Amino acid sequence: MSKDKKTNPKKPKINPYWIYGGAIAIFIAVNIFGGGFGTSKNRDTSADQFFEYVSKGDVKQVDVINRRIAHVYLTKKAEQKEIHKASAAKSTLLSASKAPNYSFEIGDLQNFEIKLDKAKSNIDAPVKVTYSTEENPWAFIINLLPFILIIGVWIFIMRKMSGGAAGGGPGGQIFNIGKSKAKLFDENKEVKTTFKDVAGLEGAKEEVQEIVDFLKNPEKYTNLGGKIPKGALLVGQPGTGKTLLAKAVAGEAKVPFFSLSGSDFVEMFVGVGASRVRDLFKQAKEKSPAIIFIDEIDAIGRARGKNAMSGSNDERENTLNQLLTEMDGFGTKTNVIVIAATNRADILDKALMRAGRFDRQIFVDLPDVRERKAIFKVHLRPLKKADGLDIDFLSKQTPGFSGADIANVCNEAALIAARNGKKEVDKQDFLDAVDRIVGGLEKKNKIITPEEKRAVAFHEAGHATVSWMLEHAAPLVKVTIVPRGQSLGAAWYLPEERLIVRPQQMLDEMCAALGGRAAEKIIFDKISTGALSDLEKVTKQARAMVTVYGLSDKIGNLTYYDSSGQNDYGFSKPYSEETAVIIDKEISDIIENQYQRALNLLEANKEKLTELAEVLLEKEVIFKDNLEQIFGKRPFEKDNINTQEEE
Ligand code: ADP
Ligand code: ZN
Repeated sequence: MSKDKKTNPKKPKINPYWIYGGAIAIFIAVNIFGGGFGTSKNRDTSADQFFEYVSKGDVKQVDVINRRIAHVYLTKKAEQKEIHKASAAKSTLLSASKAPNYSFEIGDLQNFEIKLDKAKSNIDAPVKVTYSTEENPWAFIINLLPFILIIGVWIFIMRKMSGGAAGGGPGGQIFNIGKSKAKLFDENKEVKTTFKDVAGLEGAKEEVQEIVDFLKNPEKYTNLGGKIPKGALLVGQPGTGKTLLAKAVAGEAKVPFFSLSGSDFVEMFVGVGASRVRDLFKQAKEKSPAIIFIDEIDAIGRARGKNAMSGSNDERENTLNQLLTEMDGFGTKTNVIVIAATNRADILDKALMRAGRFDRQIFVDLPDVRERKAIFKVHLRPLKKADGLDIDFLSKQTPGFSGADIANVCNEAALIAARNGKKEVDKQDFLDAVDRIVGGLEKKNKIITPEEKRAVAFHEAGHATVSWMLEHAAPLVKVTIVPRGQSLGAAWYLPEERLIVRPQQMLDEMCAALGGRAAEKIIFDKISTGALSDLEKVTKQARAMVTVYGLSDKIGNLTYYDSSGQNDYGFSKPYSEETAVIIDKEISDIIENQYQRALNLLEANKEKLTELAEVLLEKEVIFKDNLEQIFGKRPFEKDNINTQEEE
């Protein structure tokens, strides 16, 4: 590929500073030594003086050079005169043949000739006048000087853009702008991280294990005609161990690890990002098999085409396009796997997720109690901790903490203990450290108070209970009160794959979605804003029942849906005001009925609901088994594949 040439480090280096230096040196040299160019050199006499010499008959010959300078040769007799002694001596000194005795600038040539004729008219001896043009050897370079400078600047810019020159010397740093900033950890030296260092994250580890396999024995897969995946996307909040996990993959597979942040690609110089991407992939290919880790990929991977007005956006798009090109470019044998991390998978350009790119998405959640305990164990290893330190207690005290926060707690506790002159780190040091970290975190991270946590637990337990009780509601897989993204808790369901949905199924689902708020109402007699997304979902569903699917008796068998997509009924509704009132009433009735139904169901099962919430508070994550223990086997169970998630 031709673009590779530009980045070939073995290419002889031309440091543009040399060009500048050279140009300046030439300029100076020309001025000092380049006779005939400057003004200082040829004034060893003046025109007036010269005409006087002529009128005295001292001048034998005048050579006019380039119509500007006169070289004056004296007669033999004149050279003997006292006033010309010095010039005669100089003339013979400088050159054995004839060198001019005097030189001077003539000014206007016509004027000079008139004056010369006048001066000659008084004497008998002829004065020979010759005209010639003499090439100044420096003039050529001087004429080229502007071009040399322009070319120098041009080379400078080109190199910066293409990221080529690995210039040595003082300029080196600047000319590396287009080079990738990736830190390389060589397999022998740096990457010692293995899966042992990554606590918890069982699911994620299992998924990346596959990547380790690919890197270790690619033949196993390629022999069967399979394609090695090119990329995996780790999605999760900051500090949840995404970098750690990627590094562990490199460590397990014993391959080099290139690490770079998305924001490193985006510089103020146009074209730099793209060339950095090129360079990074080139380096990685040379070391293949290898792992490229791009942190904060959202810095370059944000969906294209929005804000097309701003220039920086174009630059980011170029970078993204280059990344896509590179990922498409490497063949099955290249064996470079790109792992990227983000906490905003939703804003990424869809092109990134396409098959053959980051088609694997691995979620890295905030750790639950068990995982926090495991993470504590990892980070307590190097500490001198007091005997009998209760790790369970510590993990319970740290809801909402990420892996990085826990690492921080351990370190901070050690520092606090040292400050107090202790020999070992004890429980109180950890509690102080937690306080300190929570204080620091509150601004950037959300930390849940125990009270909020209780509310979330009952809310989620409400969803779980209602969906367990209703035949057509999707069965539950997992409920968690570990905060994740914008939500404080979540429940995963196994929705049935249905092609036709009956009204009863929709109603059951709405009832389950309202179960969260209903539980809050029953237990605390208070409702909260936590049900926003539930309400949004339910409202949309009810509106669709009435206006799209024709499932409401009052409106009847008609739809206001337009499949051509040409009418979105911005301000003008396709129905009358009276119908609008009926529709609104229908929607509200449907929702209220289901809410009431959820309330009744939960009221009847209040103990079980409470029991479930308590289990959830303790474990933070519960699965189907836990529900079965409380409610007994679900009578209408079918197994399915898809999971769907709900707040
Ligand atoms: P991210 O890339 O998701 O922002 P990092 O991987 O940089 O997070 O994590 C920062 C630090 O937090 C790690 O170096 C490690 O010390 C600690 N950490 C995070 N998650 C874990 C985990 N699951 N097990 C052990 N340590 C962790
Ligand atoms: Zn909810």
